[in-house]
Amino acid sequence: MNSEELPICDNHAHANAVIGMGPRELARRFRREGGKFIVMVSLLTWSLGLNPGSMDDVRKLYDYTIEAARVINEEGIKSVAVVGLHPAEGFELIKRGWSLGDVEDFMRKAIDLAGKYVSEGKAVGIGEVGRPHWEVDERIMDFFNGIIKYALGVARDVDGVVHLHLERNGLATTQSIIGIAREVNIKPYRVIMHHAQPVSIDLAFNNGLMPSIPMGRRGEFEEAVKHGPRFLVESDFIDDPRRPGAVIPPWTLARKLRNYVSNGLINRDFLVSMCHDNILKVYGINIT
Ligand SMILES: [Zn+2]
Ligand SMILES: [Zn+2]
Repeated sequence: MNSEELPICDNHAHANAVIGMGPRELARRFRREGGKFIVMVSLLTWSLGLNPGSMDDVRKLYDYTIEAARVINEEGIKSVAVVGLHPAEGFELIKRGWSLGDVEDFMRKAIDLAGKYVSEGKAVGIGEVGRPHWEVDERIMDFFNGIIKYALGVARDVDGVVHLHLERNGLATTQSIIGIAREVNIKPYRVIMHHAQPVSIDLAFNNGLMPSIPMGRRGEFEEAVKHGPRFLVESDFIDDPRRPGAVIPPWTLARKLRNYVSNGLINRDFLVSMCHDNILKVYGINIT
Protein backbone atom coordinates (compact mmCIF):
# COMPACT_ATOMS: atom_id res chain seq x y z
CA MET A 1 0.00 0.00 0.00
CA ASN A 2 1.35 3.42 -0.96
CA SER A 3 2.01 5.34 2.27
CA GLU A 4 0.13 8.39 0.96
CA GLU A 5 -2.92 6.40 -0.03
CA LEU A 6 -5.72 5.89 2.46
CA PRO A 7 -7.89 2.78 2.05
CA ILE A 8 -11.19 4.62 1.93
CA CYS A 9 -14.25 2.36 1.74
CA ASP A 10 -18.01 2.72 1.54
CA ASN A 11 -19.57 -0.54 2.68
CA HIS A 12 -23.14 0.13 1.54
CA ALA A 13 -24.46 2.41 -1.21
CA HIS A 14 -27.03 2.44 -3.99
CA ALA A 15 -26.94 3.95 -7.48
CA ASN A 16 -29.93 4.97 -9.55
CA ALA A 17 -29.43 6.24 -13.09
CA VAL A 18 -33.22 6.43 -13.58
CA ILE A 19 -33.70 9.37 -11.22
CA GLY A 20 -30.20 10.14 -9.95
CA MET A 21 -26.68 10.43 -11.34
CA GLY A 22 -26.03 6.70 -11.68
CA PRO A 23 -22.89 4.66 -11.03
CA ARG A 24 -20.38 6.27 -13.41
CA GLU A 25 -20.68 9.80 -12.09
CA LEU A 26 -20.86 8.43 -8.55
CA ALA A 27 -17.58 6.56 -9.10
CA ARG A 28 -15.85 9.61 -10.56
CA ARG A 29 -16.81 11.81 -7.64
CA PHE A 30 -15.86 9.12 -5.12
CA ARG A 31 -12.47 8.64 -6.82
CA ARG A 32 -11.78 12.38 -6.81
CA GLU A 33 -12.16 12.34 -3.03
CA GLY A 34 -9.84 9.35 -2.62
CA GLY A 35 -12.40 6.52 -2.50
CA LYS A 36 -11.03 3.03 -3.16
CA PHE A 37 -13.81 0.52 -2.59
CA ILE A 38 -17.59 0.61 -2.58
CA VAL A 39 -20.27 -2.05 -2.16
CA MET A 40 -23.30 -1.59 -4.43
CA VAL A 41 -26.54 -2.88 -2.94
CA SER A 42 -29.89 -3.46 -4.66
CA LEU A 43 -32.45 -0.68 -4.46
CA LEU A 44 -36.21 -1.17 -4.30
CA THR A 45 -37.81 -2.39 -7.51
CA TRP A 46 -40.10 0.63 -7.73
CA SER A 47 -37.25 3.10 -7.28
CA LEU A 48 -36.06 1.89 -10.71
CA GLY A 49 -39.57 1.92 -12.20
CA LEU A 50 -39.90 -1.86 -11.83
CA ASN A 51 -42.86 -3.76 -10.37
CA PRO A 52 -42.82 -5.30 -6.91
CA GLY A 53 -43.99 -8.89 -6.98
CA SER A 54 -42.57 -9.67 -10.43
CA MET A 55 -39.71 -12.18 -10.43
CA ASP A 56 -38.65 -10.92 -13.87
CA ASP A 57 -38.25 -7.48 -12.36
CA VAL A 58 -36.32 -8.88 -9.39
CA ARG A 59 -33.86 -10.27 -11.92
CA LYS A 60 -33.66 -6.86 -13.62
CA LEU A 61 -33.05 -5.23 -10.25
CA TYR A 62 -30.18 -7.62 -9.50
CA ASP A 63 -28.71 -7.24 -12.99
CA TYR A 64 -28.88 -3.47 -12.59
CA THR A 65 -26.92 -3.67 -9.32
CA ILE A 66 -24.27 -5.93 -10.86
CA GLU A 67 -23.95 -3.64 -13.88
CA ALA A 68 -23.51 -0.65 -11.52
CA ALA A 69 -20.61 -2.40 -9.78
CA ARG A 70 -19.07 -3.23 -13.17
CA VAL A 71 -19.26 0.39 -14.32
CA ILE A 72 -17.67 1.56 -11.07
CA ASN A 73 -14.81 -0.92 -11.51
CA GLU A 74 -14.35 0.46 -15.00
CA GLU A 75 -13.83 3.88 -13.43
CA GLY A 76 -10.98 2.54 -11.33
CA ILE A 77 -12.83 1.99 -8.05
CA LYS A 78 -13.07 -1.55 -6.72
CA SER A 79 -16.71 -2.48 -6.37
CA VAL A 80 -18.82 -5.56 -5.71
CA ALA A 81 -22.56 -6.19 -5.83
CA VAL A 82 -24.91 -7.38 -3.11
CA VAL A 83 -28.35 -8.35 -4.40
CA GLY A 84 -31.62 -9.02 -2.65
CA LEU A 85 -35.03 -7.73 -1.66
CA HIS A 86 -35.46 -5.04 0.98
CA PRO A 87 -38.06 -5.77 3.68
CA ALA A 88 -40.13 -2.87 2.27
CA GLU A 89 -40.55 -5.03 -0.81
CA GLY A 90 -42.23 -7.83 1.13
CA PHE A 91 -44.20 -5.34 3.18
CA GLU A 92 -45.55 -3.74 0.00
CA LEU A 93 -46.88 -7.10 -1.20
CA ILE A 94 -48.55 -7.70 2.17
CA LYS A 95 -50.17 -4.24 1.90
CA ARG A 96 -51.40 -5.14 -1.58
CA GLY A 97 -53.27 -8.09 -0.10
CA TRP A 98 -50.91 -10.97 -0.84
CA SER A 99 -51.14 -13.77 1.71
CA LEU A 100 -48.14 -14.20 3.99
CA GLY A 101 -47.58 -17.60 2.42
CA ASP A 102 -47.40 -16.10 -1.07
CA VAL A 103 -45.08 -13.31 0.06
CA GLU A 104 -42.85 -15.83 1.77
CA ASP A 105 -42.71 -17.95 -1.34
CA PHE A 106 -41.82 -14.90 -3.45
CA MET A 107 -39.16 -13.60 -1.04
CA ARG A 108 -37.58 -17.05 -0.84
CA LYS A 109 -37.42 -17.32 -4.61
CA ALA A 110 -35.79 -13.88 -4.74
CA ILE A 111 -33.23 -15.00 -2.14
CA ASP A 112 -32.59 -18.20 -4.08
CA LEU A 113 -31.88 -16.13 -7.18
CA ALA A 114 -29.49 -13.95 -5.17
CA GLY A 115 -27.76 -17.11 -3.94
CA LYS A 116 -27.47 -18.35 -7.50
CA TYR A 117 -25.85 -15.05 -8.54
CA VAL A 118 -23.37 -15.41 -5.66
CA SER A 119 -22.49 -18.97 -6.62
CA GLU A 120 -21.99 -17.82 -10.22
CA GLY A 121 -19.62 -15.11 -9.04
CA LYS A 122 -21.81 -12.22 -10.26
CA ALA A 123 -22.50 -10.94 -6.77
CA VAL A 124 -20.72 -11.37 -3.43
CA GLY A 125 -23.74 -11.45 -1.19
CA ILE A 126 -27.42 -11.15 -0.42
CA GLY A 127 -29.02 -7.87 0.59
CA GLU A 128 -30.38 -5.85 1.68
CA VAL A 129 -32.70 -8.25 3.42
CA GLY A 130 -34.06 -7.91 6.92
CA ARG A 131 -37.03 -6.63 8.82
CA PRO A 132 -38.97 -3.37 8.93
CA HIS A 133 -37.38 -0.48 10.85
CA TRP A 134 -40.89 0.91 11.25
CA GLU A 135 -43.57 -0.24 13.71
CA VAL A 136 -45.27 -3.49 12.66
CA ASP A 137 -47.17 -6.11 14.64
CA GLU A 138 -45.48 -9.20 16.03
CA ARG A 139 -46.84 -11.50 13.35
CA ILE A 140 -45.16 -9.41 10.65
CA MET A 141 -41.92 -9.24 12.64
CA ASP A 142 -41.92 -13.04 12.99
CA PHE A 143 -42.53 -13.34 9.29
CA PHE A 144 -39.47 -11.21 8.46
CA ASN A 145 -37.35 -13.09 11.00
CA GLY A 146 -38.19 -16.21 9.00
CA ILE A 147 -36.98 -14.43 5.85
CA ILE A 148 -33.73 -13.40 7.58
CA LYS A 149 -33.16 -16.96 8.68
CA TYR A 150 -33.73 -18.24 5.17
CA ALA A 151 -31.37 -15.63 3.67
CA LEU A 152 -28.63 -16.48 6.16
CA GLY A 153 -29.02 -20.16 5.30
CA VAL A 154 -28.67 -19.49 1.57
CA ALA A 155 -25.67 -17.20 2.20
CA ARG A 156 -24.06 -19.92 4.32
CA ASP A 157 -24.51 -22.46 1.52
CA VAL A 158 -23.03 -20.25 -1.21
CA ASP A 159 -20.45 -18.64 1.12
CA GLY A 160 -21.74 -15.12 0.54
CA VAL A 161 -22.12 -12.09 2.79
CA VAL A 162 -25.46 -10.71 3.94
CA HIS A 163 -26.39 -7.04 4.39
CA LEU A 164 -29.13 -6.89 7.02
CA HIS A 165 -31.54 -3.98 7.17
CA LEU A 166 -32.84 -3.79 10.76
CA GLU A 167 -34.67 -1.63 13.25
CA ARG A 168 -32.31 0.42 15.43
CA ASN A 169 -33.20 -0.99 18.80
CA GLY A 170 -29.73 -1.16 20.30
CA LEU A 171 -28.59 -4.30 22.04
CA ALA A 172 -31.92 -6.09 21.57
CA THR A 173 -31.55 -5.85 17.77
CA THR A 174 -27.97 -7.12 17.94
CA GLN A 175 -28.84 -9.96 20.32
CA SER A 176 -31.60 -11.23 18.07
CA ILE A 177 -29.27 -11.35 15.04
CA ILE A 178 -26.58 -13.14 17.07
CA GLY A 179 -29.25 -15.73 17.90
CA ILE A 180 -30.38 -16.24 14.30
CA ALA A 181 -26.79 -16.40 12.99
CA ARG A 182 -25.95 -19.09 15.58
CA GLU A 183 -29.03 -21.09 14.75
CA VAL A 184 -28.21 -21.01 11.04
CA ASN A 185 -24.52 -21.67 11.67
CA ILE A 186 -23.27 -19.10 9.16
CA LYS A 187 -19.77 -17.68 9.64
CA PRO A 188 -20.77 -14.63 11.71
CA TYR A 189 -18.27 -12.26 10.06
CA ARG A 190 -20.21 -12.73 6.79
CA VAL A 191 -23.21 -11.06 8.45
CA ILE A 192 -23.21 -7.28 8.21
CA MET A 193 -25.55 -5.21 10.33
CA HIS A 194 -26.12 -2.34 7.91
CA HIS A 195 -27.03 1.11 9.31
CA ALA A 196 -26.00 -0.12 12.76
CA GLN A 197 -25.92 1.99 15.91
CA PRO A 198 -22.61 2.68 17.67
CA VAL A 199 -24.06 1.15 20.86
CA SER A 200 -24.23 -2.22 19.09
CA ILE A 201 -20.55 -2.31 18.05
CA ASP A 202 -19.05 -4.19 21.02
CA LEU A 203 -21.76 -6.83 21.31
CA ALA A 204 -21.87 -7.40 17.54
CA PHE A 205 -18.12 -7.49 16.99
CA ASN A 206 -17.43 -9.66 20.06
CA ASN A 207 -19.82 -12.19 18.57
CA GLY A 208 -18.17 -11.98 15.18
CA LEU A 209 -20.84 -9.92 13.39
CA MET A 210 -19.76 -6.85 11.43
CA PRO A 211 -21.54 -3.59 12.27
CA SER A 212 -21.65 -1.00 9.47
CA ILE A 213 -22.03 2.55 10.77
CA PRO A 214 -23.68 5.24 8.62
CA MET A 215 -21.50 8.34 8.23
CA GLY A 216 -24.42 10.70 7.70
CA ARG A 217 -25.83 10.69 11.21
CA ARG A 218 -24.54 13.48 13.34
CA GLY A 219 -22.19 12.41 16.12
CA GLU A 220 -22.44 8.69 15.42
CA PHE A 221 -19.02 8.20 13.82
CA GLU A 222 -17.40 10.09 16.71
CA GLU A 223 -19.27 7.77 19.07
CA ALA A 224 -18.32 4.66 17.09
CA VAL A 225 -14.61 5.53 17.12
CA LYS A 226 -14.56 5.12 20.91
CA HIS A 227 -15.10 1.38 20.39
CA GLY A 228 -12.00 0.96 18.23
CA PRO A 229 -11.88 -0.03 14.53
CA ARG A 230 -14.35 -2.85 15.04
CA PHE A 231 -16.85 -1.71 12.43
CA LEU A 232 -17.24 -0.70 8.79
CA VAL A 233 -18.57 2.60 7.48
CA GLU A 234 -21.22 3.29 4.87
CA SER A 235 -22.93 6.18 3.14
CA ASP A 236 -26.24 4.35 2.41
CA PHE A 237 -26.52 6.82 -0.48
CA ILE A 238 -29.75 6.24 -2.42
CA ASP A 239 -29.00 8.49 -5.40
CA ASP A 240 -32.39 10.16 -5.21
CA PRO A 241 -32.20 13.95 -5.57
CA ARG A 242 -35.70 14.31 -4.06
CA ARG A 243 -34.77 12.56 -0.83
CA PRO A 244 -31.45 13.78 0.55
CA GLY A 245 -32.41 12.59 4.07
CA ALA A 246 -30.10 11.21 6.70
CA VAL A 247 -27.68 9.73 4.20
CA ILE A 248 -24.61 11.27 2.61
CA PRO A 249 -23.04 10.71 -0.78
CA PRO A 250 -20.00 8.40 -0.97
CA TRP A 251 -17.68 11.27 -1.90
CA THR A 252 -18.70 13.14 1.25
CA LEU A 253 -17.98 9.99 3.24
CA ALA A 254 -14.53 9.87 1.62
CA ARG A 255 -13.85 13.54 2.39
CA LYS A 256 -15.01 13.10 5.99
CA LEU A 257 -12.73 10.10 6.53
CA ARG A 258 -9.73 12.01 5.14
CA ASN A 259 -10.56 14.97 7.36
CA TYR A 260 -10.87 12.75 10.42
CA VAL A 261 -7.37 11.43 9.74
CA SER A 262 -5.92 14.90 9.22
CA ASN A 263 -7.62 16.42 12.27
CA GLY A 264 -6.61 13.46 14.44
CA LEU A 265 -9.99 12.01 15.41
CA ILE A 266 -8.59 8.75 14.00
CA ASN A 267 -5.09 7.93 12.79
CA ARG A 268 -4.04 6.15 9.64
CA ASP A 269 -3.71 2.78 11.43
CA PHE A 270 -7.31 3.09 12.61
CA LEU A 271 -8.49 3.69 9.06
CA VAL A 272 -6.41 0.77 7.76
CA SER A 273 -7.92 -1.59 10.36
CA MET A 274 -11.43 -0.28 9.78
CA CYS A 275 -11.49 -0.29 5.98
CA HIS A 276 -8.66 -2.49 4.74
CA ASP A 277 -8.58 -5.22 7.41
CA ASN A 278 -12.33 -5.43 7.98
CA ILE A 279 -13.12 -5.53 4.25
CA LEU A 280 -10.51 -8.28 3.84
CA LYS A 281 -12.10 -10.22 6.69
CA VAL A 282 -15.71 -9.90 5.50
CA TYR A 283 -15.32 -10.02 1.71
CA GLY A 284 -11.86 -11.54 1.27
CA ILE A 285 -11.00 -8.53 -0.90
CA ASN A 286 -7.77 -6.58 -0.63
CA ILE A 287 -8.76 -3.01 -1.44
CA THR A 288 -5.29 -1.57 -1.94
ZN1 LIG B 1 -31.29 -0.28 4.62
ZN1 LIG C 1 -29.40 0.65 1.84
